[in-house]
Amino acid sequence: MFVDTQTETSMRSLANVRHEVFWLDDPTRPVARPPLQAHITADLCVVGGGFSGLWTSVLAKQQHPDWRVVLLEGDQVASGATGRNGGFCAASLTHGLANGMSRWPGEMPILLQLGRENLDAIEVFVADHGIDCEFVRSGDLAIATEAYQVADLIEHCEAGNALGLSLEFLDEESLKSRVDSPTYLAGLFDGAGTAMVNPARLAWGLARVATDLGVEIHEHSPVSTMSDKLAAVSVFTISGSVAASRVALATNAYPPLLRRISNYVVPVYDYVLMSEPLRGEQRALVGWDGREGLSDSGNQFHYYRITEEGRILWGGYDAIYHSGNGFGKEHEVDDASFQRLAAHFFQTFPQLAGLEFTHAWGGAIDTCSRFSAFWGNAHGGKTVYVTGYTGLGVGASRFGAQVMLDLLAGRETARTKLQMVRRKPKPFPPEPLRSIGIDWTTRALKSADRNFGRRNLWLRTLDRLGLGFDS
Ligand SMILES: Cc1cc2nc3c(=O)[nH]c(=O)nc-3n(C[C@H](O)[C@H](O)[C@H](O)COP(=O)(O)OP(=O)(O)OC[C@H]3O[C@@H](n4cnc5c(N)ncnc54)[C@H](O)[C@@H]3O)c2cc1C
Repeated sequence: MFVDTQTETSMRSLANVRHEVFWLDDPTRPVARPPLQAHITADLCVVGGGFSGLWTSVLAKQQHPDWRVVLLEGDQVASGATGRNGGFCAASLTHGLANGMSRWPGEMPILLQLGRENLDAIEVFVADHGIDCEFVRSGDLAIATEAYQVADLIEHCEAGNALGLSLEFLDEESLKSRVDSPTYLAGLFDGAGTAMVNPARLAWGLARVATDLGVEIHEHSPVSTMSDKLAAVSVFTISGSVAASRVALATNAYPPLLRRISNYVVPVYDYVLMSEPLRGEQRALVGWDGREGLSDSGNQFHYYRITEEGRILWGGYDAIYHSGNGFGKEHEVDDASFQRLAAHFFQTFPQLAGLEFTHAWGGAIDTCSRFSAFWGNAHGGKTVYVTGYTGLGVGASRFGAQVMLDLLAGRETARTKLQMVRRKPKPFPPEPLRSIGIDWTTRALKSADRNFGRRNLWLRTLDRLGLGFDS
């Protein structure tokens, strides 16, 4: 059980931390492309320069080289969740096996196959285009730190392997021989299902390929309004507009351009620390020779991984909602969350006492009640959107983009036949019920973590209704 008590070690580890996103603090960060300053037409206008928008524009140009494709990004490419995440690029399209099994049991074989093909395609794309984003298909390890979680891992292992995955249950000794922590009881290794990436560099690589294909990218071009003009949808920024026959909205947890989306998505803030590079002897103390990504198994969980340079990224646990779908830069720094993360880090790795964190940041997660992407349209089908990845969109966003292009083309594919694609999540209630419900749920999840995973009546009721809250 993680405790929030600060120690001298955890406090000292944050003494020199900078409130900056590590991935964006990179000398290779491209200079911003000029904003839109004209009134133009396009075959496709994409709004949002994160993974969803970038994949949409690249895949659109690959499918239709003759299309004029314009991408409008309000800030800079990768400045949203895409440049702030843990870099776990997962095959899962359903926010994990258990969530997928609970919602679309009959579709899981095809969802797993499409997810694997999606991750394979990302790997090939990165190699073919020489994108230097530290892509490594190292797999991931789910960790049990409480006795009751061991049984869950065994059950998960059996369920996954029955569906054709190659999951490996690791007992305490074999787990600790891979990565050592006094808190570890058992682990579940999925060697093929996840790659680790430097997410900002992957996004910048995608933007480079998009530009080479002829996509016109304008940064610092926030879209303020849209209007339907029968043959086209006009998309307006402060200094220009695009009249496009098709529009793809890829704005994730940001305040949506279509108000109806905010019924289904709440921005939830998640926080991350990045350590200085481990010295050889420090790395030997944890024995973490591989690059696999790790996460512990509570409702409130940490995710962590090691970079090529040997830094540990440690994030998660808190998932903070600000009432009224509160969104903004002021929520990206939260000292209490950073301190909690540091305290939990040294409970996991006491042998690393003395290690310092160099970067600390936060970002908004597009949480929906079913924890996985959903799609919709507007303006008679000329505009489509994807959002709702709930913290697992690095890989799934390419699939999200493919579905948007299927929907814009009006074509039926293996993707658009899926219940997961055809149905939306259950909406969140309006405020103040939304804040009250999220608060109750967060408290109940914390209490379940303290009580051997036992879910109280409130959580069991939500489970029955297929409603949830996660990051
Ligand atoms: C802290 C954190 C850790 C995470 N860790 C992981 C992880 O390890 N693995 C994983 O799979 N997922 C993770 N995620 C989630 C993952 O980052 C996202 O699912 C994914 O990046 C979503 O990409 P996107 O393109 O849909 O959204 P974003 O990257 O948020 O892009 C949306 C873009 O739209 C732009 N925009 C918004 N409104 C407008 C407008 N009106 N006009 C113009 N532009 C606009 C924004 O500026 C932004 O660049 C994490 C998220 C966070 C915040």
